Amino acid sequence: MAIPRFSYDKISALESAGLPELGFEIMRPYTQDVFSDTTLETIVQEAFNFEIPLVQVEAGIFSLELFHGPTYAFKDVGARFLARCLGEFAKSESRETTILVATSGDTGGAVANGFFNVEGVRVVILYPSGKVSDLQEKQLTTLGGNITALEVEGDFDDCQGLVKQAFLDAELSKKLNLTSANSINIARWMPQSIYYASLALQEKNAAEALIAVPSGNYGNVTAGMLAKRMGFPLGKFLVCSNANDVVPRYLESCEYEVLPTVATYANAMDVSNPSNFPRMLELYDHSFDDLIQEVSGFTLHDEQILETIEQCHKETGYLLDPHGAIGYAGLKKKLKIDQKGVFLETAHPIKFRPVMEKALRDKMPMPGFAKDLMLKQKSSIKMSNEYADFKNLLKQTS
Ligand SMILES: *Cc1c(COP(=O)(O)O)cnc(C)c1O
Repeated sequence: MAIPRFSYDKISALESAGLPELGFEIMRPYTQDVFSDTTLETIVQEAFNFEIPLVQVEAGIFSLELFHGPTYAFKDVGARFLARCLGEFAKSESRETTILVATSGDTGGAVANGFFNVEGVRVVILYPSGKVSDLQEKQLTTLGGNITALEVEGDFDDCQGLVKQAFLDAELSKKLNLTSANSINIARWMPQSIYYASLALQEKNAAEALIAVPSGNYGNVTAGMLAKRMGFPLGKFLVCSNANDVVPRYLESCEYEVLPTVATYANAMDVSNPSNFPRMLELYDHSFDDLIQEVSGFTLHDEQILETIEQCHKETGYLLDPHGAIGYAGLKKKLKIDQKGVFLETAHPIKFRPVMEKALRDKMPMPGFAKDLMLKQKSSIKMSNEYADFKNLLKQTS
């Protein structure tokens, strides 16, 4: 379908709208064939029930704090919306729907939380063993009920590969009524356009600002591009990656060269071949020249991630998480004189406590929510990265 473009008047009228109202207006053109206004209203009220504040870190640099949802990461935005949409669809299905989701960390927690106890829906989460933080692992593995966690011997790309293969497996897909909740499912990343719209409305100079987006699978930044395409005044994008920097390298050289995934301190972005990259290109009609007019790239390696966290904390008192740190560092490097910069702070720093303590060379106090979670008992099923094993497990546990 074509991307709707909002008029100046329509956008002005949304100036004082809260997130649910913005969510309603933005998602409505895409969902009106399937949901009534009343249903959509309920979905957005339940999904976007937390704040996304814009906080000044220092002169000219702002943090759009996306981590105030129930699992303390921005993935709550998309996951909560998607869970409620699929919950709606499940109401009219005679049999159970199975949601498969591969996670490099935050997705699984957000999806699990979003779907917990949604009737008619079973969720199977695949995560790379030993490659997510303790707190993330607890978020994935302690809900029980309709949520099953599979601990895969491999990396995120293995997990994502298994999920993709399952969808291509007609027999399995049909038998289990499979649906995806990854950012390969567009209902996951599209609602993220809402906070870009909110940014455009909150910050008068957003159209001139540089917007730094810590990126892994490129759903987040693609949602920003979508908001801009819908007419919200937003500046250029700076896509920020860790050592897995296939896109920043592409933006420099026009060559898309996939290298093996490297484990980094910003592990939610350890993705070597982002599945939303083709969508991002599609938004620019596959024109490299058009793309680089609006988008540039930035890479930060592990040692500098630590330095950035420490330095920013020392100089401003603001605690960056390892992902937000890459966005912040990108702005420090690329902002022009007098240009405003906004980086997306994608997770609460406590989710990455070992990295934070290494960077700060100090203990980090646990907030109450984290203490409670750590006391819970982990429950996961260990699995190889072979498709045959995965398929067997899925059949057994269904
Ligand atoms: C998922 C995630 C990212 C990357 O977002 P994409 O949409 O995959 O580009 C960045 N930071 C955190 C904390 C995340 O969980």
